[in-house]
Amino acid sequence: MDDCIFCKMAKGDIQVQKIYEDDDVIAFPDINPIAPVHILIIPKAHLQSVLSVEDESCIISKIFRAANKIAKADDKFADGFRIVANCGENGGQSVPHLHFHLLGGRSFAWPPG
Ligand code: 5GP
Ligand code: ZN
Repeated sequence: MDDCIFCKMAKGDIQVQKIYEDDDVIAFPDINPIAPVHILIIPKAHLQSVLSVEDESCIISKIFRAANKIAKADDKFADGFRIVANCGENGGQSVPHLHFHLLGGRSFAWPPG
């Protein structure tokens, strides 16, 4: 996806502060954080949303393994955290490249607004 901002980040065409990287996954801080720590975890390969996850389901394991490592490495996640994947218009998805928000450093209301 030539015009996808997260693909450009994954390829290194747009520089990001890499919190985590492996062959398939990259994580970087959200530009507009809604929590003391707000990290986006994305597959390097373009998938539009949760609805695009079919045979590539192992990517989800890799993303959650990344979340595990990131959370264990930063004390701000020690008291708990939240992982969010917004999907589509009602879900509030604004970037059409699958991503998981890893949020920590404060408590989060349930149900969400
Ligand atoms: P969504 O609303 O699709 O669930 O989440 C997209 C997230 O991407 C938003 O939280 C937004 O702040 C973040 N975002 C959008 N553009 C950029 C960017 O250029 N750099 C970074 N680091 N985050 C971005
Ligand atoms: Zn993309």
